[in-house]
Amino acid sequence: MASAKIKKTEIAKLLSEWSQEFTVFVPSQDEGVAKWARWDGKEASFLAWYRNTVVPPKAIFFPPMESMFRFQKGGDGYQVELPPPAEKGCLIFGIRPCDARALSILDMTFKDTYEDPYYLTRRKNGVLVGLGCTSPYDSCFCTSLGGSPTDAASVDLMLTDIGGEFLVEAITDKGRELIARTSLARAATKADEARAKEAKELAGGRVIRKINTEAVTERLLAGFEDKDYWERVAAKCISCGICTFLCPTCYCFDISDELINNQGERFRSWDSCAFPIYTQMPVENPREEKWRRLRQKVCHKYEFYPMSFDVIACTGCGRCIRLCPVNWDITQVLANLPAEERVKLEK
Ligand code: SF4
Ligand code: SF4
Repeated sequence: MASAKIKKTEIAKLLSEWSQEFTVFVPSQDEGVAKWARWDGKEASFLAWYRNTVVPPKAIFFPPMESMFRFQKGGDGYQVELPPPAEKGCLIFGIRPCDARALSILDMTFKDTYEDPYYLTRRKNGVLVGLGCTSPYDSCFCTSLGGSPTDAASVDLMLTDIGGEFLVEAITDKGRELIARTSLARAATKADEARAKEAKELAGGRVIRKINTEAVTERLLAGFEDKDYWERVAAKCISCGICTFLCPTCYCFDISDELINNQGERFRSWDSCAFPIYTQMPVENPREEKWRRLRQKVCHKYEFYPMSFDVIACTGCGRCIRLCPVNWDITQVLANLPAEERVKLEK
């Protein structure tokens, strides 16, 4: 089947089939906050309100807090007990292209030098079913970073809204196997494919925010020491860390042990470079001032990460813009870099 289609009214049945094999996650409302939650086995009402989640799907593969292992001290030293493996892989239904792409960026981090077994096992056993955006936020700028609201590059299956149905494209072998096993999908017609093409073009045109990423690494490098600029950039930030916790490509974590008598547990939990004590060391703190921390956040994504992995670690999902309590805006920071003119002159 080149491409398939499925009725929107049959999505709940499809999720029910997939639940036999996977733990299915769908967008869900928790006291007004859109998050990912295990599908309740009932319906697919999220299709009516879903634009994107506040908490990105990285939280499924890299939870805000998780136990790494338990330990016990005995006569022969420490005994370590790893958490039991998950019984099923995760299937994320409706992941947006920017967030799927963010996972492919996180993969580079979690595979680099040291392979992180917690994250990588979940990724290996997971399936991503993408759902193209039809109404991007005005804070979204994925098209400036090589993405689009219907980009299928990082998913296994891609769904495009064509009215009462979704056009389904299998992108990977995992996706092909998944769609081949269901009787709910039917072959798409040329007219369905034409409708999907039109929907994709319309969606791409709805991303109105743009940034210039040309030579951005060089521009940041040239303006790195411009303290006045970074102080202005950081002035209104309250160091709450929301922009990093909810960024789908941020991955900093802290490790802590809980110990009672001779037994305990080691946890890891999300951390943020926005926090003043993030880089606290016994004799100094290289990022005590707020401007240095904001500079780190921007430069990590647009300067240091491309230098290491040849990719910008931002997908333009816009969360850090729409969720910041003081309206800090990374696109404005990049648009007003003081080195802009200097780099142009040097070229
Ligand atoms: S969300 Fe806004 S206020 Fe909070 S740390 Fe980020 S830039 Fe600062
Ligand atoms: S930096 Fe902002 S726009 Fe870029 S991926 Fe993170 S939250 Fe999204």
